[in-house]
Amino acid sequence: NLTDKLDKAFHILKGHGKITDVNVADTLKEVRRALLDADVNFKIAKDFTTRVKEKAIGENVLTTLQPGQLMVKIVKDELTELMGGEVSGVNLSGNPSIILMSGLQGSGKTTFSGKLANFLKTKKSKKPLLVACDIYRPAAINQLHVVGEQIGVEVYSEPENKNAVEIAQNAIKHAKANGFNVVIVDTAGRLAVDEEMMNEIANVHAAIQPQETLFVVDSMTGQDAVNTAKAFNDRLNFDGVVLTKLDGDTRGGAAISIKSVVNKPIKFIGTGEKMDAIDVFYPDRMADRILGMGDVVSLVERAQAQYDEEEARKLQKKIAKNEFGFDDFLNQIQQIKKMGSMKDLVGMIPGAGKALKDVEINDDAFKHVEAIIQSMTPKERSKPSIIDVKRKQRIAKGSGRKIEEVNQLMKQFDQMSKMMKMMQGGAGKNLMKMMGG
Ligand code: GDP
Ligand code: MG
Repeated sequence: NLTDKLDKAFHILKGHGKITDVNVADTLKEVRRALLDADVNFKIAKDFTTRVKEKAIGENVLTTLQPGQLMVKIVKDELTELMGGEVSGVNLSGNPSIILMSGLQGSGKTTFSGKLANFLKTKKSKKPLLVACDIYRPAAINQLHVVGEQIGVEVYSEPENKNAVEIAQNAIKHAKANGFNVVIVDTAGRLAVDEEMMNEIANVHAAIQPQETLFVVDSMTGQDAVNTAKAFNDRLNFDGVVLTKLDGDTRGGAAISIKSVVNKPIKFIGTGEKMDAIDVFYPDRMADRILGMGDVVSLVERAQAQYDEEEARKLQKKIAKNEFGFDDFLNQIQQIKKMGSMKDLVGMIPGAGKALKDVEINDDAFKHVEAIIQSMTPKERSKPSIIDVKRKQRIAKGSGRKIEEVNQLMKQFDQMSKMMKMMQGGAGKNLMKMMGG
């Protein structure tokens, strides 16, 4: 994993106060090796380390007070630059704006079409129409309909029609006649690049002239992702890249190489199978993530989006009056669960990603806790101090958990109440600030 390798590379620099020419060179060699191992193209990796070295010399890294940190900063800035520097949005200028998906089968086009429709609907107040132009597999049309239903977005399809160009054109007519202002065209992919697929998508592209042609690629495919990107770009001259499946064992390499090879920005990333697992691509955050600093800003943003202000105020009052009970505890757990999968979140906390790498965290971890709380009476929940040994035994029996587990939960609850009391004043936000350091 690239992050681990870079961690190792920076170890010498971070740990000791003294830096010499020799260990800067060593570190850069390690950085280059780490990039190569993560499927970054050889020339890109070599140019990268050359630039970092020049900058390091230019900024007199060796004579500064904290040379290690400065080196990390230089590497981070260069990585950010390599991945595109600025954030680039999606072009929604047309009426309707037409967005065409391209990419191999299994890359995540259909899933991402749904995610993008949902994103534009909820975040940009757009009225999107999804179009099923994968005409080879009836299951593919069905899949898009299922996705559309999930997010409440209409899906246009013509199951009997075997002409993708016609379907796309008809869909746009339908959109114009019915007030849809974004048309997202999902297309068929093959398992590998072939002429027939390229011709078909090129024909659709020429016929509907999309404002935005997105190339969707599975980030797990490494160097292959770069080759596929090149093939599609040669034919379609696409506008942007979508990196999917970045929730798995992150291969930062694809993000780095693709931008360099096709010189098109990465616009979005997919981070899971669910419809809300979509993020705008921020080059600097990705650089942080690759360098193992954790994506704190994303974490805070996601948390804030889910955190209901009103709820926060109520909670604060309760804490102040010592009325924080198990129902609130349960509520908090549900809030955390809403934020996304636990693994995702933990990975974003600086340092935690590494520390907890081998610990299996799953969303079921809370199940037992919830069962125990549900076995408490309302009175016990609102006033946990009344829970004595006898009550504990009853609760354990009712929830099918061991008495030790009930004890542990009581202890955790106690600690959490104390912590919350300590952080009084803007409870939720302060919590997030603390996490962000
Ligand atoms: P298509 O053939 O290009 O339309 O690909 P699909 O949208 O059908 O996706 C192929 C598989 O990848 C499906 O099982 C999706 O659930 C899964 N998938 C798509 N995007 C993501 C992602 O960001 N993360 C994960 N973990 N799975 C994804
Ligand atoms: Mg599909």
